[in-house]
Amino acid sequence: MAKRVIVLSGASSVGKGKIKDLLLADKELDLRFVISMTTRPKKPTEVDGDDYYFVDYKYFAKAVKQKELYEYTEFNGYYYGTLKSEIDFWLKQDKAILVEVEAAGVGPLKLNIPEAVCFFVVPTSMEELEKQIREKYNDDEASARTRLNKAKMEMEIAPLFNNQITNDDPERAYKEIKEIAQREWAKLEEEE
Ligand code: 5GP
Repeated sequence: MAKRVIVLSGASSVGKGKIKDLLLADKELDLRFVISMTTRPKKPTEVDGDDYYFVDYKYFAKAVKQKELYEYTEFNGYYYGTLKSEIDFWLKQDKAILVEVEAAGVGPLKLNIPEAVCFFVVPTSMEELEKQIREKYNDDEASARTRLNKAKMEMEIAPLFNNQITNDDPERAYKEIKEIAQREWAKLEEEE
């Protein structure tokens, strides 16, 4: 069976979390979520081994040295990386998977897994995105500014991605992603 991989990325604070939840809840897609490793502290609402594998920087560095990651990046002072073992575990069982990464992670993932269908979620406008970021980080100017700068950069490189998805409505955006992924997977099957 062809490798069925969705890579979901997007500008900071564009609302890809909601789209991710809708994709994961879709019984027809039956996606497995690829859990990343991070040095970021766990939020009270998060579960270790469910949302992320929360590790210290020494553990993370060891994984990098031992080439256990398909890609990794630093963001806002913390490291995030995609474990090869996580992806390989599901693909060996012919499961379709969803990987969520920030923009820098997409290139290395595509190099390692050429079959991956990559999506980049963009806001309806930069003004809308700025509003969302300011609302989310209204008591933390430094974080808002970092995310805004990153989002601006990501919007500049967005045209490099094959599948740009406008998040005008998460339900519509998720359906568009589903349709494109299923079409691409059908093509891969034919090629096999
Ligand atoms: P947060 O701290 O908000 O959970 O995540 C910050 C950013 O890191 C998000 O844009 C998220 O998509 C991204 N991210 C999460 N896991 C990975 C990963 O394994 N690799 C990369 N490159 N980015 C990740």
